[in-house]
Amino acid sequence: MRLVMKFGGSSLADGKRLLHVAEITAQMQQRGDEVVVVTSALGGVTDALINVAKKVSRVEDELKILEATIRLRDRHTQAARDAISDPAILNTVEDLITLRMDELEKALIGISHLGELTDRTLDYITSFGERLAAPILAGAITSLGSEARAFTGGEIGLITDENFQNATPLSFAERRIADTLMPVLGRYIPVVSGFIGETERGVITTLGRGGSDYSATIIGSAIDADEIWLWKDTSGIMTADPKIVPDARRIPVISYIEAMELSYFGAEVLHSRSMEPVIRKKIPIRVKNTFNPEDPGTLIVEKPEKVDEVVKAITVIRDCALVTISGFGMIGVPGVAAEVFSALARKNVNIMMISQGSSERAISILVDGKDLKKAISALESCFPSIKKEIVYRDDVSALAVVGAGMAGTPGVAGRVFSALGKNMINVIMISQGSSEYNISMVVSDSDIERAVRVIHDEFGLGEEG
Ligand code: ASP
Ligand code: MG
Repeated sequence: MRLVMKFGGSSLADGKRLLHVAEITAQMQQRGDEVVVVTSALGGVTDALINVAKKVSRVEDELKILEATIRLRDRHTQAARDAISDPAILNTVEDLITLRMDELEKALIGISHLGELTDRTLDYITSFGERLAAPILAGAITSLGSEARAFTGGEIGLITDENFQNATPLSFAERRIADTLMPVLGRYIPVVSGFIGETERGVITTLGRGGSDYSATIIGSAIDADEIWLWKDTSGIMTADPKIVPDARRIPVISYIEAMELSYFGAEVLHSRSMEPVIRKKIPIRVKNTFNPEDPGTLIVEKPEKVDEVVKAITVIRDCALVTISGFGMIGVPGVAAEVFSALARKNVNIMMISQGSSERAISILVDGKDLKKAISALESCFPSIKKEIVYRDDVSALAVVGAGMAGTPGVAGRVFSALGKNMINVIMISQGSSEYNISMVVSDSDIERAVRVIHDEFGLGEEG
């Protein structure tokens, strides 16, 4: 089987776990699979890099830079020592860690002198996590007797546009990736740094937080993989967050579209664009648990064979804010919604949900709580000549009920809302896309967890018995 395997999260927390991941990989290769590995950074490293870069861009602080780079160097060196048994390989990897840490330190000093952190620089800084993890993992696999070599995204041909922080691969990237990887498949295991790409001019870009899933599916599509396995630290995709719903269940099979709906809507299991590359070629994705490799996890395919549940999963976005702009002058005037949306877009405010009643007197917009101030000031700049009112609530969360089986099945919305009503949960705003794969709603923060449990129960999604 030709396989792309991506590892991330706490399954890469330290050297012991890296070794475990290396063993899984070496076993697959030894049983005859052609394997490409995509790695994320060691758990928590990306956050640490972002934090130190932001801090030193605000206040010049060489001590902080020194502390941060020493901590990162120690952590990666320790991981390498625990994961790599071959002394010669370990030596090479330790030298590389030292070299990278010098580069990182120089970059951070630059940022702190300039007092400025652009998206482009932040991409360079965050790339260090994956650029350190890949050589350590490759070294660990090679120590186990299966040859592996580390690559960055750019080195295998993952060429992107210049949209730093959220780059998109260019149309020829997959062909280039195939040209690089196809000839080496089966000869050695490429270990590719996920999350990062490169512009045509060779500047490092990133694919957005959680982007190593996306790297894996881009590569999987490029080399016509039989399957893509995303190894995580949970048993696949769940019917709801087990922290909210204790009897949440693993979903055995789910469609691309459902997985996409879930990832757009706050479920942190998958990068929201990671389905895009595989849909056309219908490459199955498995979400698997490194801590329990025998567990079948969740299989993501185009069309699950039997669709028995109308509702598959419930997902939540917390810390939202609901802003409503209203005014009699907005009624029947064309271009009102357009102006609202462009004003928000100009301030870079992402709209999560919208609703406008047919009276057209008001438009409500759900945004990330962090964007509330920007959203209000954007709306204040709209329609200078009419009398308008802007009100907001910042104590709300959004919830989405997802399932392809809801399309064309009458009564699903009825069941959702009567279950909530029976439990005295007030629904503040509702939206259902015409695809009918998703019913989204806004409830107050104090009701959100109960709302998830009520709907989960109503559709019998929990563990039997
Ligand atoms: N290391 C990156 C992040 O934390 C990418 C990834 O983990 O997929 O967002
Ligand atoms: Mg809030």
